[in-house]
Amino acid sequence: MKYISTRGQAPALNFEEVLLAGLATDGGLYVPEQLPQFSKEEIASWAGLSYADLAKKVIAPFVADTIPQADLDAIIDETYGTRAATEGKNVFAHDAVAPLKQLDSNLWLLELFHGPTLAFKDFALQLLGRLLDYVLEKRNERVVIMGATSGDTGSAAIEGCKRCDNVDIFILHPHQRVSDVQRKQMTTIIGDNIHNLAIKGNFDDCQQMVKQSFADQSFLGGRKLVAVNSINWARIMAQIVYYFHASLSLGGPHREVSFAVPTGNFGDIFAGYLAKGMGLPVKQLVVATNVNDILHRCISANDYSPQELVHTLSPSMDIMVSSNFERLLFDLYGRDGKATGELMARMNGGQGAELEPARLAKARELFDSYRLDDEGCIDYIAEMFERSEELLDPHTAIGVKAAEVCRRDSETPMVALATAHPVKFPEPVVKAGLNSPELPHHLEDLFDREERCTVLDNDLAAVHAHMAEQLG
Ligand SMILES: *Cc1c(COP(=O)(O)O)cnc(C)c1O
Repeated sequence: MKYISTRGQAPALNFEEVLLAGLATDGGLYVPEQLPQFSKEEIASWAGLSYADLAKKVIAPFVADTIPQADLDAIIDETYGTRAATEGKNVFAHDAVAPLKQLDSNLWLLELFHGPTLAFKDFALQLLGRLLDYVLEKRNERVVIMGATSGDTGSAAIEGCKRCDNVDIFILHPHQRVSDVQRKQMTTIIGDNIHNLAIKGNFDDCQQMVKQSFADQSFLGGRKLVAVNSINWARIMAQIVYYFHASLSLGGPHREVSFAVPTGNFGDIFAGYLAKGMGLPVKQLVVATNVNDILHRCISANDYSPQELVHTLSPSMDIMVSSNFERLLFDLYGRDGKATGELMARMNGGQGAELEPARLAKARELFDSYRLDDEGCIDYIAEMFERSEELLDPHTAIGVKAAEVCRRDSETPMVALATAHPVKFPEPVVKAGLNSPELPHHLEDLFDREERCTVLDNDLAAVHAHMAEQLG
């Protein structure tokens, strides 16, 4: 499988190279040159497979020329295997890995929060860490991962890479501006290759520092930086699997299934779009946003202009532009890298941009969209608790509400993705007049665990000096 850039000017890469590449040299994002295709019969033959065994089928064609199937199988068993397969050292706390729960007639919750950091990002980053280690071992290379986080990505990246022998990981978070649970989930993972840096600044400061570090890596003395943010292709690839899994559990592929996805950087829902492109019968894909609603504005009103960032109760969806949307635009523009590049230049130039009517029509065929503000989110958390005693985290609540508003019929199963456990974001739950959720059993002692973290000034030189010193 070859991967090509959405801007058409960078060399095509294989999976191994894409895994380590991050952005393409022309500023674009890598996508498969051709999407693997599965027939209905083939998908039907996977009914009843465990999550891990299904993942092997779905992921194999993406990595085929880089990772032998036996090695891939072992990596996937380690990542998504159940207690029986992993001798009790399973990563996900639920043997179904991604269980479905019924909320209402034909409305389902896909629980993606049973991983070590209680959010769906574990699905991608647990696999990414293992794939990186495998590839680096083979190449006899060591790399440095550097990332900025406002919460979820950082902890999931650290959990995913903590056992990687060939990776040093530096995660920057804004000092005293992440929730206690989120901080503890990062800083209590102790290892010589794990470095938590609390920066005396805000999330944008952290992100800026990471960007500048990627642009000039000389401070690393020859080591290479690798990105684990959601533009990394391997993350998207991993997320395709649970769309197949949910569909097969609800009568697919002999029946269409719809999905509603709380969306920030458009990574998670883009995986659903790919699943559909690979042959999975998907009826609706609903994009759900908070008031940082550039995607909803684009789909509903052809307005793709960045607006000022608003801090909401669903912080993991607080974005100004959605980086992975470029991958969809590339398809909407007939995979024309030049046209995609021009469109992105206009958008990034701050002029905003409109899609050509035919492209917009295609986007609307593929996606419905909905936006919910904080007040609506709190109300809906209260409503759903009253209806079913189900406590939703704020991101998930936006997705479930969107599912109910946007669904076109009641016969098609509608699956809303539950992207985080409510304990990670207790504020809206309390504001909804409900009791603050409790930590699940496997994390009960989180607040008693030792923390390790270095507080640094909001100063790039200081960060680089610290990193160089830690790397020896
Ligand atoms: C990251 C995240 C999202 C948004 O996912 P994207 O792939 O960026 O669209 C939604 N909910 C939670 C809890 C997250 O951590």
